[in-house]
Amino acid sequence: MGPNAQMNMWAKSGLPTPAMIHDFMNQYIISQEQAKRKLAVAVYNHYKRLKSHDDQAEIDLQKSNVLLLGTTGTGKTLFAQTLAKILRVPFVIADATALTEAGYVGEDVEKIILNLYNAADRNIEQASRGIVYIDEIDKLAKRSAGQSASRDVSGEGVQQALLKLLEGTEVSLQVKGATAPGPVLVDTTNILFIVGGSFEGLEKLIERRIGRQSVGFGDKKKRAKIDDSSGIRHKVQTSDLTMFGLIPEFLGRLPVIAVLDTLSVEDLAHILTQPKNALIKQYQKLFMFDRVNLKIDDDAISAIAELAQKKRSGARGLRAVMESVMLDVMFEAPSMKRLSSVTITRALVEGTGPAKYTKKTNKKTPS
Ligand code: ADP
Repeated sequence: MGPNAQMNMWAKSGLPTPAMIHDFMNQYIISQEQAKRKLAVAVYNHYKRLKSHDDQAEIDLQKSNVLLLGTTGTGKTLFAQTLAKILRVPFVIADATALTEAGYVGEDVEKIILNLYNAADRNIEQASRGIVYIDEIDKLAKRSAGQSASRDVSGEGVQQALLKLLEGTEVSLQVKGATAPGPVLVDTTNILFIVGGSFEGLEKLIERRIGRQSVGFGDKKKRAKIDDSSGIRHKVQTSDLTMFGLIPEFLGRLPVIAVLDTLSVEDLAHILTQPKNALIKQYQKLFMFDRVNLKIDDDAISAIAELAQKKRSGARGLRAVMESVMLDVMFEAPSMKRLSSVTITRALVEGTGPAKYTKKTNKKTPS
């Protein structure tokens, strides 16, 4: 069943279960099992919340905004995007480092809601149920933590302004070319906020808190094991995050904390081939326009994943590696006569050999 058919079925039967939401995420996201389970439950509860809102129920279900903790390229934005797909709501991305308090130079937080309103094709009802993803939340805090007591336009002030949005407030938007006169009012009570950050150095803080820094002295192997397992990050508590200058009231509005793990070479190889819109599938489609079959040796996939991992930018590195591997092939293939397939080999990836080109046999060329 395709994702749309699946979602139509959900729409009919009421709520998708967390397991169904998890399965849907699996079509797009590789690994990150713990985050998938946490977010599946969060989205399930968000659905209930929206429904109970419709029913005008007496009990107010509190919104569960989400904090995603993960280094660059581990899928934070992808998670937020995928959830918006599941809920079929408008979605926008904002960068915390660009935000300022209203009245200062830069983007004030209300601009986020304006962007959401535009992403919802200027439908207030839709916008007020959308998803906002705010990246680099840790950088915002860090900058403020290092600043003097003078009026701070980038750190705590922005957190206070964001806090209001997270809690639920009515934002008044000045919309250019609006059909009705006056400002557009968007209530943020039902908007799901997902914030993300890499929180570099978090492991050390957690280790210090739970008193594990003694491990590893004179025992390098053990030390290394702790360093590269993201296991320690899963032990994060809100108090660790205040060390990055995030104010407790703000963290208090982020009851769901999901930790994304560093992706292994194997994960990266899966990301290349398995998701619905996997990179390899995209290149194959490009070649199909020229009626050329693009094949990639398993060994070549591993080599690409290994190169990407060396870049230390998670799955983000994959596209750059692919582009450089494919450049010559994409340049040459369209002018090769009767080409039927190209095979990408490990040697090509490593720059020590060519791709394999196969020509059509002489018999008959399909028109
Ligand atoms: P982040 O926001 O954590 O820096 P992104 O979500 O922007 O990372 O991911 C960067 C790229 O890598 C995107 O193209 C995304 O689709 C892909 N990607 C990252 N993590 C995963 C994953 N776990 N599964 C599938 N694709 C992923």
